[in-house]
Amino acid sequence: MTKTTDAIIIGAGVIGTAIAFELAKAGWKTINVDRNSQSGHGSTSGSCAIIRTHYSTFDGTIFAWEAYHYWRDWADYLGLPDGRDLAQYRETGCLVMKTEANGYLQKHIENCRVLDCPLEEWSAEKIIEKLPIYSLESFAPPKTSDNPDFGKPNGGTLSGGVFWPKTGYVTDPALSAQNLADAAKLHGGEFLLGKEVAVILQQDGRVKGVRFADGEEVHAPVVINVAGPASSKINQMAGVLDDMTIKTRPLRQEVVHVPAPEGFDFENNGLIVSDADIACYCRPEHGNNILIGSEDPECDPHYWVEDDVNYDRNFTDQWTTQAMRFGQRVPSLGIPQKTKGVVDLYDASTDWIPIYDKSQLPGFYMACGSSGNQYKNAPIAGKMMAALIEYCENGNDHDETPLQFTLPYLQRDIDVGFYSRNRKINEESSFSVLG
Ligand SMILES: Cc1cc2nc3c(=O)[nH]c(=O)nc-3n(C[C@H](O)[C@H](O)[C@H](O)COP(=O)(O)OP(=O)(O)OC[C@H]3O[C@@H](n4cnc5c(N)ncnc54)[C@H](O)[C@@H]3O)c2cc1C
Repeated sequence: MTKTTDAIIIGAGVIGTAIAFELAKAGWKTINVDRNSQSGHGSTSGSCAIIRTHYSTFDGTIFAWEAYHYWRDWADYLGLPDGRDLAQYRETGCLVMKTEANGYLQKHIENCRVLDCPLEEWSAEKIIEKLPIYSLESFAPPKTSDNPDFGKPNGGTLSGGVFWPKTGYVTDPALSAQNLADAAKLHGGEFLLGKEVAVILQQDGRVKGVRFADGEEVHAPVVINVAGPASSKINQMAGVLDDMTIKTRPLRQEVVHVPAPEGFDFENNGLIVSDADIACYCRPEHGNNILIGSEDPECDPHYWVEDDVNYDRNFTDQWTTQAMRFGQRVPSLGIPQKTKGVVDLYDASTDWIPIYDKSQLPGFYMACGSSGNQYKNAPIAGKMMAALIEYCENGNDHDETPLQFTLPYLQRDIDVGFYSRNRKINEESSFSVLG
């Protein structure tokens, strides 16, 4: 017999499971479907899981600052019985270098001051006191490694940075999605894993459910696309791409793991650092390693992929360039012969801001285009999507009159229309993973 439910959530990553948790708490019968055999094993498992609060837009900042509180209070938020293995949030703080490219962070500082999100301005001396392995020579603008000026300082030095203390990272992102899945199950949420959605079913101008590759169907009046880097494929299956000004596309990314220089305990004394001067961000990684990601400088090619399952998972020049760029900042860094790290996909949107929205097909919703920067926002995205679905299913036209959503911790309203699929491209965006 065909299974029926109130809402089908395509994807059991950190955002799909957060939506399930919130809908289930609100009394919805939910089924998450995922082609993987475990929750959190899509792009969530490759995430650097950095929880930061500085964004180039005010809306991005307020959303991330709200989201921080759920990671801080993770066990309380989930409400799971004692004794469960929970993902750990480590509050290291995040230093962002002031550069010409980021307007010396004036906009970010203003956004955070309005929201009472704590920050400290650090001088160059303070940075060196905290990170004695650092050199503050400037190398901007970032260059590709075949450029004859690659690795040559430009004669200037970094003048300082801004430190955001209420930031950190989650040690096991896949486990955090499994925690959310368990929390959803406590409220009746179901999970069908190892099932690939092949067709979005429709009837009488409305979504009707999904059909899997094995022919089985599940029916529901609401279907939510939270398929990560496969989101555009699922939107295409649903036939909802026409009215979207913002598109999504899988983008391949490499993350470097290298040992910290000998004599410095980066795991315990290191920080998250975002450094536009060398176009890298870093964070501590267990085993006294340093994880290094790219800030997508203009000079670097973008590796778009067509197939979000069968793509090249080997390290390339991107790995080496990133490691060498970080070596500009940490001259004592050793770059091992054996490459270690992560190769995964962002679900990049046109303006690198996510889409949390309905679609032109009644009953079909999307939480996608997470652009390498929405892991941190999963808990609040889950709450906002649940509110959006209730709003639309109660007959409101979110395109005409966008939902105004009150953030529970900050008690401030946000306009959910900011995340619309048919918004104008947001020119305030950094057009990079920084959002
Ligand atoms: C390398 C990397 C580093 C990142 N670093 C950070 C960071 O530091 N901070 C931050 O905030 N964000 C970061 N992100 C972004 C963050 O990880 C993602 O935004 C987030 O994990 C997306 O979660 P999701 O649930 O939307 O998608 P996913 O975790 O990708 O889940 C989607 C699921 O859908 C399933 N699926 C797809 N198609 C189908 C189908 N046809 N049928 C059934 N199932 C299907 C997949 O199997 C998958 O499990 C990073 C991302 C990457 C790749």
